Amino acid sequence: MIRQGKGKTPRRPPPKKPSSNQKDPVGVYCRVRPLSAEDEGCCIEVISSTTIQLHAPEGFKTNRNGEYKETQYTFKKVFGVSVSQMELFEHVARPLVNDLIRGKNGLLFMYGVTGSGKTYSMTGSPGQGGLLPHSLNLIFNSIGPYQARRYVFKTDDKNGMEVQSEVDALLERQRRDNNLSAPKATSSRQKLDPEIADMIKPEDTYKAEGVDEDSSYSVFISYIEIYNNYIYDLLEETQEDAIKPKPPQSKILREDHNHNMYVAGCMEVEVKSAEEAFQVFWRGQKKRKVANTRLNRESSRSHSVFIIKLAQAPLDADGNNILQDKNQVNVSQLCLVDLAGSERTGRTGAEGTRIREAGNINQSLLNLRTCIEILRENQMCGTNRMVPYRDSKVTHLFKNYFDGEGKVRMVVCVNPKADEYEETLLVMRFAEMTQEVEVASPMDRPICGFTPGRRHRNKAFKDELALKLEERGGPIDNDFTSAINPLVCSLPPLPSCELTDPHDDITLPRLIDALQNRHMVRQMMIEEYNKAANMMKSMLQELDNNLISKDNFIHEQNSKLAEKDQIIQTNKAEMERLEKKTKMQEHKIDILQKTTKIYEDDKRSLHHELETRENRLQKELSEKRLMEQRMHGVVSDTQTKWEKECERRVNAMKLEMQNKLWVKDEKLKQLKAIVTEGKTPGRPNPPPRQTQPQRPSREERLPAKRSASPSPTPTTTPVRPLHRRSRSTGGEKWVDHKPTSSLDLGTVLQPVIPNAIQVSAPNEKALSKCDKYVLTHQEMASDGEIQTKLIKGDVIKTRGGGQAVQFTDIETLKQELTTATRHKRKSSEGTPAKGDHSDGAWTDVETRCSMAVEMKAGSNMGPGYEHHGITKRRKP
Ligand code: ADP
Ligand code: MG
Repeated sequence: MIRQGKGKTPRRPPPKKPSSNQKDPVGVYCRVRPLSAEDEGCCIEVISSTTIQLHAPEGFKTNRNGEYKETQYTFKKVFGVSVSQMELFEHVARPLVNDLIRGKNGLLFMYGVTGSGKTYSMTGSPGQGGLLPHSLNLIFNSIGPYQARRYVFKTDDKNGMEVQSEVDALLERQRRDNNLSAPKATSSRQKLDPEIADMIKPEDTYKAEGVDEDSSYSVFISYIEIYNNYIYDLLEETQEDAIKPKPPQSKILREDHNHNMYVAGCMEVEVKSAEEAFQVFWRGQKKRKVANTRLNRESSRSHSVFIIKLAQAPLDADGNNILQDKNQVNVSQLCLVDLAGSERTGRTGAEGTRIREAGNINQSLLNLRTCIEILRENQMCGTNRMVPYRDSKVTHLFKNYFDGEGKVRMVVCVNPKADEYEETLLVMRFAEMTQEVEVASPMDRPICGFTPGRRHRNKAFKDELALKLEERGGPIDNDFTSAINPLVCSLPPLPSCELTDPHDDITLPRLIDALQNRHMVRQMMIEEYNKAANMMKSMLQELDNNLISKDNFIHEQNSKLAEKDQIIQTNKAEMERLEKKTKMQEHKIDILQKTTKIYEDDKRSLHHELETRENRLQKELSEKRLMEQRMHGVVSDTQTKWEKECERRVNAMKLEMQNKLWVKDEKLKQLKAIVTEGKTPGRPNPPPRQTQPQRPSREERLPAKRSASPSPTPTTTPVRPLHRRSRSTGGEKWVDHKPTSSLDLGTVLQPVIPNAIQVSAPNEKALSKCDKYVLTHQEMASDGEIQTKLIKGDVIKTRGGGQAVQFTDIETLKQELTTATRHKRKSSEGTPAKGDHSDGAWTDVETRCSMAVEMKAGSNMGPGYEHHGITKRRKP
């Protein structure tokens, strides 16, 4: 509160000695604007009504060690993107307006980077009035009926406020109206600029607290801009020269005698309504825009300060007029500040002088920061460092708020887009620091000595008076008089009633006439009036009747409406029920769909598994088949091998057996021969080769078994002595048995048998015709040469009617090289080691052996018999 000192300048408590012990911290609020459509990343999250969290965007390292840091900042309140202008106002500005009306000062400033919503929050946009228009609305809604007439309060040029009488005020009003030929821009009835028409809503009916009905109020506004550390008055009325516009004149800051800072020579416009005030503000705003464009300034680099000054003075004891005591005038002010964008210079890409200017603006914000830092340090550590308010205009202007008293609030505007992260971080740090600064809270206004309720009583008295006057038919009040005046003027004028002569007989009767005339006119008028009144009454009656019938109709309609409402209600309930049901069904469908999906997935996976298993089975089967084939091959191979081996072994065994048999047979024959020769003279004794032939071995018994015919005994079958010559003697018929396998060796001396029947296999027919048999048998000799044996025998008739061959002779034909050494006979043969004669000796033995072979009629000689046996002698 700035108390008026001697009716001139508001008093300020002495510096560094706040008048109240109560201190409040600077109230810091945070408003997060919505992300614009083109922005993507968001670095701010509102986590509670008082806290926000800052997320470092990707790729942004906040710590030295490269870690990401998430920081939280707490404020008095946080306003998220969905918070309305009205809500912001209710929390932030309404208490300041309440204070203003109670006579206390307030400072509200917007802080943040360009585009963060400072201007939006302060001024607003069409349809979305900000804190400023809302504050104006609240002020005028509250003090509306208690406003003083224009010019009752009057500003001096030294930051003071004077109060003058109603009459002086009236005179000044007339004077000013006459001076201004053009219609006054400050008329409260003037039409609003369509641009701002929906930013300020006069129909708002909310009211501030603390309005004193026994005071009269008046609002003064001023609007300044601080750019490049120069102050410009935005409401100054300048004569615009379109051809050569003058650059705006900067203003200076002054200190009044109470050490309060003010802008010297700054326009303070008295306004009587919110619309008027906002219209004035808008004029300043336009001027600011024009100047910025003309001077190529960047508007985001300027600070704008809108000051609302509220002057109030108590009514006198009657409650009729403002007390003409300047000591009783209270002036409080609310400063609404839209600071320049807090971003650092590098970001804007400005050039040349603009960079320098921007630097200055930065300088003023930096200075604000420094001041706050030092203030905080002084308060927290009890130090007494000098706060450099004077280093910039902004801090200088608000110096009183920080070292005097008042309420300071700050709205930190932030744009949540990720690109702004760094700047937002700086803003947050500043805000955090600012919250720690405390400001002395403003003192309550002293109460003046008059009884409260004066205005009300005065009004009640006036109303009562008017009523009484009306009852008496006299003039009721001023308004009635003004309504009557034209009527009076329309009456015929009164003649001059100046009596110069006491005997004047003309003037008085003329006056009497005129008065009578007037009386008549009055009577007529009264009659007319009564007529009109009656008419009016009947009309009113009619209207009343109409109204009643309309009322009835409305009532009827209302009941119908209620019925319809009932139906709608039931329908709604039904609809809700159905909706619920639908939702349930949808939910069920959803679940079923999900289940189906799960089953389908299962089926697919099982199918897949089946396929893989089948494939594997197929593969295994083909492998098995392959293996089988391979095994088959191996088995057959082994089988044939073993078969061959067995055959070989059997053959070997057979051969051995036959050999043995042969030997036994031979021995037997020899024995027989010996026995027979013993009876027949002229036959030489066989050489005593065999020592123990007595006991017949198995092999010896074999041939006997094989033959079905009685064995040819030496007694029944005479063996003739062998004579070589006899062979060539003619007369005998031969069966020449030459196996097909016999080779023609190309020998010079070939045995030729005349009269022979040549056969490849002996048969009964051939044997029956002949009496001699010869077998040509070829075999490999022990020296590797082929030797041919001619085995001869006699064909004899058996008792069974068949033929038998009795072998009588074996002739060996052999080719040999002269150089070839003759092989010895095997010792197993049991031959005496007589060398070249052994064959001969052997032949001798053979010639003495005979063997009868019985062949049944129709039978063939089986393999392995006789010549086969002989053939196998190749392999002993
Ligand atoms: P500043 O004054 O901080 O530079 P502005 O107030 O001019 O920023 O805001 C920039 C843009 O963002 C404007 O078009 C404004 O309408 C919009 N804006 C800012 N805050 C909000 C909000 N809370 N809701 C909707 N739009 C906003
Ligand atoms: Mg702005």
